[in-house]
Amino acid sequence: MLTDEELLRYSRQILLQQVDIDGQLRLKQSRALVVGVGGLGSPVALYLAAAGVGELHLADFDSVDLTNLQRQIIHDTQSVGQSKVDSAITRLTAINPEIKLVPHRAALDVDSLAAAVEAVDLVLDCSDNFSTREAVNAACVAAGKPLVSGAAIRLEGQLSVFDPRRAESPCYHCLYGHGSEAELTCSEAGVIGPVVGLVGSLQALEALKLLAGFGEPLVGRLLLIDALGTRFRELKVKRDPGCSVCGAGA
Ligand SMILES: [Zn+2]
Repeated sequence: MLTDEELLRYSRQILLQQVDIDGQLRLKQSRALVVGVGGLGSPVALYLAAAGVGELHLADFDSVDLTNLQRQIIHDTQSVGQSKVDSAITRLTAINPEIKLVPHRAALDVDSLAAAVEAVDLVLDCSDNFSTREAVNAACVAAGKPLVSGAAIRLEGQLSVFDPRRAESPCYHCLYGHGSEAELTCSEAGVIGPVVGLVGSLQALEALKLLAGFGEPLVGRLLLIDALGTRFRELKVKRDPGCSVCGAGA
């Protein structure tokens, strides 16, 4: 059940026929893992907490640095030097004390990552490097959990949803397994804040759709954002039957 305060807090989204009280209850009963509480993870965690996702699991072993603040809007000047997870928990608790926040402050290895993925309904990859993305994808495929994957660098963004519960869905490795410039990180190549904000906001939206059960998810499609020209493009992406992560031989 939803309390009177929850009905009021979430009233503007409950008003949507696609959400309604049933969708809000599904959000309350949902658990999501956010891998990386940086540029993408900031809007993801802020919007999911504000929307009433019942449990948010936050994973980041890093601490807040002054150079993060240009884009990692969940953190502030006072939190420089603090663990990103703790800084995020302070902010999220201030926004919504109704939800449960579960911290993962240490780096996740294969076993702890598998357990962290197993404990939730959906995973959002907000990390900034290829090896983490591959590891998160493999854990999601193994556990059969949907993965909302976003990336942003310089003035470009990418977004897709991989859902192993759907036979036609590719996984991250089907798409990027042959390597890409995903190995470049923002600290090396640079990035402008609103681009990560845009991709992170879209990740949060895809997660809310999947958890509450409305709309058409971005499965089998890759959204490409060109911020310089303000252009959005979409590519169809197919499952690779020979994929070493999700293929028949895996
Ligand atoms: Zn695959």
